[in-house]
Amino acid sequence: MLTQAPKGTRDILPEDIAQWNYVEQKFSELCKKFGYKEIRIPVFEHTELFQRGVGDTTDIVQKEMYTFKDKGDRSITLRPEGTAGVVRSYIEHGMGSLPQPVKLFYQITAYRYENVQKGRYREFHQFGVELLGAADPSADVEVISMLALYFEQLGIKNLVLNLNSIGCPKCRSAYNEKLKAYLKEHLSSMCETCRERYERNPMRILDCKEEGCKLRIKDAPALLDHICDECRDHFSKVTTRLEAIGIPYNIDKGIVRGLDYYTKTVFEFVSKNIGTQGTVCGGGRYDGLVEACGGAPTPGIGFALGVERLLLEMQSQGIELPKAETPHIYIGAIGEKAALMCERLAWQLRRNNIFCVKDIMNRSVKAQMKYADKLGAHYALILGDNEIENNKAQLKDMRTGETKDISLDTLIDRLVKHRG
Ligand code: ATP
Ligand code: MG
Repeated sequence: MLTQAPKGTRDILPEDIAQWNYVEQKFSELCKKFGYKEIRIPVFEHTELFQRGVGDTTDIVQKEMYTFKDKGDRSITLRPEGTAGVVRSYIEHGMGSLPQPVKLFYQITAYRYENVQKGRYREFHQFGVELLGAADPSADVEVISMLALYFEQLGIKNLVLNLNSIGCPKCRSAYNEKLKAYLKEHLSSMCETCRERYERNPMRILDCKEEGCKLRIKDAPALLDHICDECRDHFSKVTTRLEAIGIPYNIDKGIVRGLDYYTKTVFEFVSKNIGTQGTVCGGGRYDGLVEACGGAPTPGIGFALGVERLLLEMQSQGIELPKAETPHIYIGAIGEKAALMCERLAWQLRRNNIFCVKDIMNRSVKAQMKYADKLGAHYALILGDNEIENNKAQLKDMRTGETKDISLDTLIDRLVKHRG
C-alpha cells in the first residue's frame, strides 16, 4: 500500500514530462492566439455545484464523484470536470459585466471513480475552454475549429468529428414524451439506473453504457429529427460554417453527452486507434448552465479534451514526441583547485543560459565521463591540476568523439557565442 499509488492514479515520470510540457504549451499558445485567457480553479468545490452544474441524473454525479465531508462538516467534491467550476467563478467574480464574450481556458486534473482501464483513470488531465456570453453559431464553430487546428498542429490525423444537436428545453420536452412512449415497452429489460431515469430525465437513458440497454436504445427516436426551428437553424449555420473553413464532420444522432446542461450543439472528436476509450474530447453548448448555477441567463459553449487519450492517440499514430532536453556541457574536476575553477565556469555558463551540469560527486575521470555520456551531454570537459596550470583543457564532443584544446579564458565566450 505504502509504496503503491492509489488505483487509477499515475505518476508522470521525468522521462515522460517533455511530452506533457509540449502538448500543454501548444494548447495554451493556441488558446491565447484565439483570445482565450487562462483560468485556474480549485481542485474541490461544494458538492452542490456539481449536482447542479453537471446534473444529478448523470453518471458522473450518480456514480463517479469523490465526495467527502471536511472537518467543518461541509460536503466537498473533487472536481470531476472543469466547466462547473469555471461557471461558478464567472458568476462569483461578476464576469458577466466584463466585455462579452468571456473566453477562458484551463489545464486541470479531474477525478472520477471509474472502472480503470487504458485511457480511463480516476485522476486524469483535461484541457478545456469555455466561451461565455455568445449565442451565435459562429461561437460553436470557433471552439470546434480550435480543436481541429490543435490536432493539425500536433500532426494528428483521422480523428472524426461527430456532431449532433440536442435542442433546447422547448423541443426537448415534446421529444421526451415520444422517447418515453418508445422506451416504455423496453423498460423492464433495461438496467436499474435507466429505469430510475425514465421519469426524471429519459434522455439520459440514451447515454447508458450497459450492453443490454445500448441494444434497445439503438432504434429509439432521435432528438435531431425533432428539434424546433430555431435549433435547426442554429445547427445548419454551424455545419455551413464548418464547411466554409473545410472542417469535415459526421452527423451522429446518437451523441447525448454525459452532462445534463448541454443544449443545441454537442460534439466529440473520436479516434479509431485507441480502442474503446476512443473519445479524445467532447464538448457542446450549455445555454442554461449559468442560470442553473445562480447567474443571469448567459449562453455558453466549451469542450474538454482528455490529455492521456491525446497522448495515447499520438503514440498510436507514431507521432514523435519531444524528449527531455540534454545538457549542453558537463564540466568535471579532479582536485581542489580544479573544483574551484569548475565552480566558476559552471556558474558563468548557467548565468548565460547554457544547460550545464557540473561534478558534485568527486568521482574519477572515468566515472565522470561515463556519467556525462549517460546524461547525453553534447560536450564534456574535465579539469585537473595540469589544465589549471596551463590554462587549457580538452573539450570533448561526446557525439563525434572529437577533442579540441581550448583556452579556459575563452571557454565561456566560445560556448555562449558558438555553442562549442
Ligand atoms: P467517456 O464516455 O469516455 O466516459 P465522458 O463523456 O465521461 O467520456 P467528458 O466528461 O466529456 O467524458 O470528458 C471530456 C474528455 O475527458 C473525454 O472525452 C476523455 O477524453 C476525457 N476523460 C473523461 N473521463 C476520463 C477518465 N476517467 N480517464 C481519462 N480521460 C477521461
Ligand atoms: Mg465518462
